[in-house]
Amino acid sequence: MKREIAKETDEGIVCDLCVLELGGEVQVPFDTEEQLYCHLEERHDLVIKRPGETQEQARARVQKKNSRIGGSECMCPNCILKRRGAIAG
Ligand SMILES: [Zn+2]
Ligand SMILES: [Zn+2]
Repeated sequence: MKREIAKETDEGIVCDLCVLELGGEVQVPFDTEEQLYCHLEERHDLVIKRPGETQEQARARVQKKNSRIGGSECMCPNCILKRRGAIAG
């Protein structure tokens, strides 16, 4: 479990990135870590390595379903920060 981007509640697993982006708006929690991982890959452009995968295999798998990753439209936290910094600076 990626503790830094999600937390488990009584209702399920809540995505912290959504909470940050939506300003604490209520979001539907996930039942399983697998659902959270798919959400992180599709919504937040993060590559989540599954057991038995190398980093390259994971990246190739995620890029197949999400072509934004690593590009100029990438919405992962690192790229968002970078773009914000570019705008601010
Ligand atoms: Zn999210
Ligand atoms: Zn990115």
